[in-house]
Amino acid sequence: MPEHLSAFLAAFLFFPKMNDMNMFPCEPACHPEEDTDVRRALEEAGWRYTRQRAAVLAYLRTACGHPTAEQVFAAVRRRLPHISLATVYKALEALVDARLANRIAGDHGPTRYDGRSEPHYHLRCQHSGEVLDLPLPYDPTLLDKLDPQLVKMLRQQGFEITGHRLELVGRFVCPDKPN
Ligand SMILES: [Zn+2]
Repeated sequence: MPEHLSAFLAAFLFFPKMNDMNMFPCEPACHPEEDTDVRRALEEAGWRYTRQRAAVLAYLRTACGHPTAEQVFAAVRRRLPHISLATVYKALEALVDARLANRIAGDHGPTRYDGRSEPHYHLRCQHSGEVLDLPLPYDPTLLDKLDPQLVKMLRQQGFEITGHRLELVGRFVCPDKPN
């Protein structure tokens, strides 16, 4: 069995029971940056550092389910009661532009946001639309392992690969949740 495949399967052998979203392991968000680094990243991207933007980022980094803008608004409003939905949208735009967060588009439903800016893999529930992080290390050489000829061919055609995305899709089978 190829090494990457066995590692992939091994990760799932240790996967906890997934019949309840709340039991799904929440990968700790990687957030080595202090406020000064967040400020610098925003300013380098041409945005001002504001406490609203810092609060939105702080929430994104603790949220497991990759929340929508509305969900971010509902959560951050508990801490900053006067924040508006428009301000949250602007904060999300600034954070994504400064590469402090990522936007995750879905086939259906609203855009979701990710407080982890480093490459990682996702699982998406096609019923709820919720997106969760997979406990699987990002492998920058995965495409080479899958098909080295494809990488070579794309390079010859002038296409530079800058990364890849892996998303497992399915649905949680749970008697408490409608299917
Ligand atoms: Zn994620």
